[in-house]
Amino acid sequence: MPVIVQKYGGTSIGSIEKISQVAEKIITEKEKGNDLVVVVSAMSGETNKLVELAKSIDKDPSGREFDVLLSTGEQITISLLAMTLIKKGYKAISFTGSQAGIFTNSVFNKARIETINNSKIKKYLDLGYIVVIAGFQGVTENGEVTTLGRGGSDTSAVAISVAMDAKECQIFTDVDGVFTTDPRISAGAKKIDQITSEEMLELSSQGSKVLQPRAVEFAGKYDIGIRVLSTFGDGSGTFIKKENDGRMEKAIISGIAFNKDEAQLTIRGVPDQPGIASLILGPIAELNIDVDMIVQNVGEDGLANFTFTVPRSDFNNGLKSLEESSKKLKAKKVIGNNKIVKISMVGVGMRTHPGVASKMFSVLADNNINISMISTSEIKISIVTDEKNLETAINVLHDAFKLER
Ligand code: ADP
Ligand code: ASP
Ligand code: MG
Repeated sequence: MPVIVQKYGGTSIGSIEKISQVAEKIITEKEKGNDLVVVVSAMSGETNKLVELAKSIDKDPSGREFDVLLSTGEQITISLLAMTLIKKGYKAISFTGSQAGIFTNSVFNKARIETINNSKIKKYLDLGYIVVIAGFQGVTENGEVTTLGRGGSDTSAVAISVAMDAKECQIFTDVDGVFTTDPRISAGAKKIDQITSEEMLELSSQGSKVLQPRAVEFAGKYDIGIRVLSTFGDGSGTFIKKENDGRMEKAIISGIAFNKDEAQLTIRGVPDQPGIASLILGPIAELNIDVDMIVQNVGEDGLANFTFTVPRSDFNNGLKSLEESSKKLKAKKVIGNNKIVKISMVGVGMRTHPGVASKMFSVLADNNINISMISTSEIKISIVTDEKNLETAINVLHDAFKLER
């Protein structure tokens, strides 16, 4: 029988009533003659609660213990969903990541799936069971529980689809599919019917949390089709394909993503000499802080200003490190801003249509939106601006590039 993998996110299973609705959806697919493997997240808000509990004890808790804790959210929903299916008269069994044979490396909190031993999943499918698996978690060779980073159930679902050679990986969530921008920010956001995995990867990496970037990367690598669908509505959702087969409309811009999880650090008036960048960023790297965008500009006085962005959670540590570097380098000033947003326009059409960047900048200027940093890649232009500009910026760009059509 063909195997279908379905994943249900937190809001889709946020209550017993919703779990019952999800069970009906699963049963409908099962009745069509498919084998069903269902991956679930924790109930909405549950993982955040667990994170808060841990951080109330230690801001930087033991990675191992943190994962033991975070993995419990999904253990609740797998059992509740399996019980519901059984109560409705179906054979169902729940597995934690470890029970399902999902092996990861040993990087706690952001582990990568290495292999899946699918024999147990197969055995129960063959016996007629609906198999329910906890997303977001796995186990190391040594039996340690790991988690895959926030939003990681998407990646679990894709990896299980690969391991089971599934017909399709269906990601059910609280919106109708992937939109041209977050439908909660812009009323004009339009659902996209099909998108290439290259563009989806860029949108996810730039902050569209509808899919975890690693899930998209995994699906692209193993050529698995992902379909993003609404749990509570009908409709064909959004299909994410490896390549454009020529039937997809070639939009110049496919979507706009934003990321509010970054902060900006600036050091002013450092000597413009070789090695300065590494003197500033070396101590940041030693603190394990990831740097995203970097801009350096040199004034006529031979002094340079150096600005970069870091995850917002690392803002205070980054600022402290920069203040220390500032003393050593006799810099003029250190400035931190943790109320910024990065807005990114993504589209493969940029490769063949010049002028997207200049249009983006002029639209923002016309609306009095100041840009503090810019970075580009082949299919993406990102700008950093004050967080208060987020909605206006998204809406004016969405209009100017006619994404609602
Ligand atoms: P789940 O709990 O199902 O994994 P998430 O909250 O992780 O759901 O992801 C779904 C959310 O992603 C939506 O509610 C929406 O606000 C947000 N989102 C951000 N960008 C987009 C986009 N371009 N298209 C659709 N949803 C988006
Ligand atoms: N429950 C986890 C989280 O909130 C995993 C997921 O939802 O995909 O990040
Ligand atoms: Mg998610």
